[in-house]
Amino acid sequence: MQPSSVPAPTGVTSEAADIRPTGRLTRLSTSRPLPLEVTDLGTLHDLVELVGGGGVVVLSGAGLSTESGIPDYRGPDGLRRVEPMTFGEFAGSSEARRRYWARSYIGWQRFNAASPNAGHRHVTELQRAGYVGPVITQNVDGLHQAAGAIDVTELHGSLDRAVCLTCGEVTSRVGLHDRMSEANPGFMERFAAAAASVGSQWGEQVRPDGDIVLADDLVRSFHAPWCLVCGHDTVKPDVVFFGESVPKALVERCFDLVDQAGALLVLGSSLAVMSGYRFVRRAHREGTPVAIVTRSATRGDAEASIRLHAPLGETLDRLVDGLRV
Ligand SMILES: [Zn+2]
Repeated sequence: MQPSSVPAPTGVTSEAADIRPTGRLTRLSTSRPLPLEVTDLGTLHDLVELVGGGGVVVLSGAGLSTESGIPDYRGPDGLRRVEPMTFGEFAGSSEARRRYWARSYIGWQRFNAASPNAGHRHVTELQRAGYVGPVITQNVDGLHQAAGAIDVTELHGSLDRAVCLTCGEVTSRVGLHDRMSEANPGFMERFAAAAASVGSQWGEQVRPDGDIVLADDLVRSFHAPWCLVCGHDTVKPDVVFFGESVPKALVERCFDLVDQAGALLVLGSSLAVMSGYRFVRRAHREGTPVAIVTRSATRGDAEASIRLHAPLGETLDRLVDGLRV
C-alpha cells in the first residue's frame, strides 16, 4: 500500500479522514481525447485467421454490454456523455455518498436485470472451443460470467459487492440493496412519480456503473447505507472509481496473461483509460498481435494490426461462423 500515491480527497470529513484505497498505485485517469479518424485495418478474414491461431486473451469494455441495454460512457463519436463521480468526491463527504447511493439504488435495479447479449455468448463459445483463454474485462456488470465464461478477471471490480472504506468489510450488493429498501420505504415510487411528471424514461438515464441522474430533493430524502461492522456511512461499491487505481497485483497478473497470449483481442473499449490501454501497449511492445473490434476510434488504434470499427454482436457472429465454432 502506498497511500502517498493517492490524492487527498478534498473536503474530507473527520469520519472519512482515514479512507485509503488499498494497494492502488496507478490512478484511473479521466477523459482523454481520442483520435478523430476512424479507419479500418485488415478484414474479418484476417480476424478469423488470427483468432484461429488460438491463445487469444480478450480485453472487453463497456461497448460489449451496450447491446444488453447498459449504455456506454462514450457515444460512437468517442465523446464522453456523462461524468462519473470520482473517488475523491465519494470519499470526501457523506453528502456525496448519499447522492451516489440514492442514484445507484435506482440505477442498479435495471443494471441487475440486464442479460448477456450475443457478444458475451460468442466470447464464451470461443473460449469453450479453445480459441480464447482468459478474459480481462473493464466491465463491472458480471455479464461474461452470466454467459458462462470462465477465467474472467474484473479489472475494475464488480457491482455485485460493496466494501467499507473504513473497516474493509465486504458485503453483497443484493443484501445492501435490501437494507436500502428497508431504510427508504416509498423511495422508488417517489422517483417514478417525479420522472413521470417531467416525461422522462428513467431507464434511459442509467450509466455503465449503475448510476443515474436524480433530482436534488429526492437525493436529500435518501438514507445512505452504513456498515454493519463499524457503523460508518463509508460503504462503497467494490469497483474502481475514476481517480482511483486498479490494484497493482491485479495489473501484474493481467500483464502475465498478456505476455503468454498468442494475440490480444479488444472488444468494445475505446481504451481511453490507461487501465486497459497499457495491456495493448504491452502486447505491441512484445510483438503480440493486437486486434480491436469496437464502434469508435480507440486510443490503441496505432498499436493494432487489425482494427474493425463495427457493431460487436454482428462481427462476433461472423467470427464464430468463420471459425465454424
Ligand atoms: Zn465498516
